[in-house]
Amino acid sequence: MTTTQRPWSERLEIVRGDITCQQVDAIVNSANPSLLGGGGVDGAIHRRAGPQLLEECRKLGGCATGEAKITAGYNLPARHVIHTVGPIWKGGDQNEDELLAQCYRSCFALAEKHGLRSLAFPSISTGAYHFPLDLAASIALREIIVGLERLPYLDKVTVVCFDDRTWTCYQQALAAYKERTGT
Ligand code: ADP
Repeated sequence: MTTTQRPWSERLEIVRGDITCQQVDAIVNSANPSLLGGGGVDGAIHRRAGPQLLEECRKLGGCATGEAKITAGYNLPARHVIHTVGPIWKGGDQNEDELLAQCYRSCFALAEKHGLRSLAFPSISTGAYHFPLDLAASIALREIIVGLERLPYLDKVTVVCFDDRTWTCYQQALAAYKERTGT
């Protein structure tokens, strides 16, 4: 496997769009612990992937919060789906920050194990799970940047924001990160 020395800032992209259209090695699904489908991004991924995705998910035995499991992508343009379970926001004193960070770390661990070179993330936990968007964005970006620095052969990580508010929040979090670290 060839390695690239490109800095993380050239390998990170924040876009507005629909994650089910991303042509990458793996898209990340913000799933629920059953892994048997749900609403939001989870529903969209299952609809586009087709019923075989649910069949494979049934065999996985669910997934704990902060952990991740990988399947094929079936009818999606992405080759794989990494299913992770974000924390439900309960006010901030239930270890939610750490659990959200663990989701991203678990996804990067699977990317490493499977030699994936491109990943797309949705904004985990900020929909039905009500994690505050600005806090989620800063945790997400911090962990994605750590992942990009740790895995130099990872060509691209795309954060796919489904609405303007999410996109703006991630852009602001990125600008704040760069200012803080002088990058
Ligand atoms: P969670 O349970 O993690 O909060 P949701 O699916 O409710 O999951 O929301 C997570 C984020 O995914 C939200 O910002 C939501 O707008 C977004 N989202 C929903 N559908 C899509 C999609 N097709 N592509 C990308 N993001 C999506």
